Amino acid sequence: MKIAFIGLGNMGGSMAQNLLKAGHQVFGYDLSETTLAHFAQAGGVVCQSPQDAAQQASVVVTMLPAAQHVRTVYLGEQGILNVLPAGSLCIDSSTIDPKTIQDVAAAAQARQIQVCDAPVSGGTLGAKEGTLTFMVGGDAATFEAVKPVLSAMGKNLVHCGAIGTGQVAKICNNLILGISMTAVAEGMALGVKLGIDPQALAGVINSSSGRCWSSEVYNPWPDICANAPASRGYTDGFAAQLMLKDLGLAVDAAHQAEHPIVLGSLVQQLYQQLCQEGHAHLDFSSIMHHYTAPTA
Ligand code: NAD
Repeated sequence: MKIAFIGLGNMGGSMAQNLLKAGHQVFGYDLSETTLAHFAQAGGVVCQSPQDAAQQASVVVTMLPAAQHVRTVYLGEQGILNVLPAGSLCIDSSTIDPKTIQDVAAAAQARQIQVCDAPVSGGTLGAKEGTLTFMVGGDAATFEAVKPVLSAMGKNLVHCGAIGTGQVAKICNNLILGISMTAVAEGMALGVKLGIDPQALAGVINSSSGRCWSSEVYNPWPDICANAPASRGYTDGFAAQLMLKDLGLAVDAAHQAEHPIVLGSLVQQLYQQLCQEGHAHLDFSSIMHHYTAPTA
């Protein structure tokens, strides 16, 4: 297949490489020259603009930082919808608000172009190893059409429902994750302050009702989980600033829907503070710094 890939950063760069490995021809564009050089080394065809890349392909994948970039690339004056022929297929894997991708899909539909949202979980490691989970929003026919492309980059493809529901699944999951990580940090820090050994406490939690992914697989207290970022100084994980972005998406979506959101707003403020204190690039489990600053 001829696939255009726009946004070749930490995630997109590895995802495009997996498409190349699967034998697809990939036409890439990014604002960063360094990123383009890596892509060229892997065998990709470097293009001069999003339109240039899109014009060479029948499928377009975008993996961009935030909603404003997605709007520019699809709907801007130099946007790809202006050049794609009817029958093209577009997959946006960026994490953004559901409304933006619904607007893009509406504009695309008028031109008979299919669009789906397909945000991912699995992080940079999943992107590298081709084991991402894709949460896909779009009609059933679009889901079938994107399967061969997504299966080269991920191992779980979940059809969540209509356009935008992939983003809904993604931001609700990360809302729960941000809250549960903060809860585990709070419980661990309090327990240690009150005199229990952190290993003993984690052992009890993980065989009791407080158990969750954040306590069992990704514990924020150092040296509970050998492979968790907390055990290597909170480096090489899911950055606190990305968690802050995702919590912001959940809080904004709740406000738009006039739906109550309580813990999400509180935890969003804690992550805001963490980032302002200079920890934006640390793993999000460094929320532990609000309670104590354990060293790995
Ligand atoms: P990144 O900043 O590393 O990559 C984004 C790339 O997009 C950059 O290389 C940037 O130059 C490029 N870009 C920006 N505007 C552009 C434009 N107009 N045209 C072409 N290229 C443009 O970000 P990332 O970590 O790869 O994340 C991408 C998306 O995936 C984000 O929405 C993020 O929230 C989401 N995500 C990231 C992770 C993670 O662990 N990094 C996990 C899941 C989801």
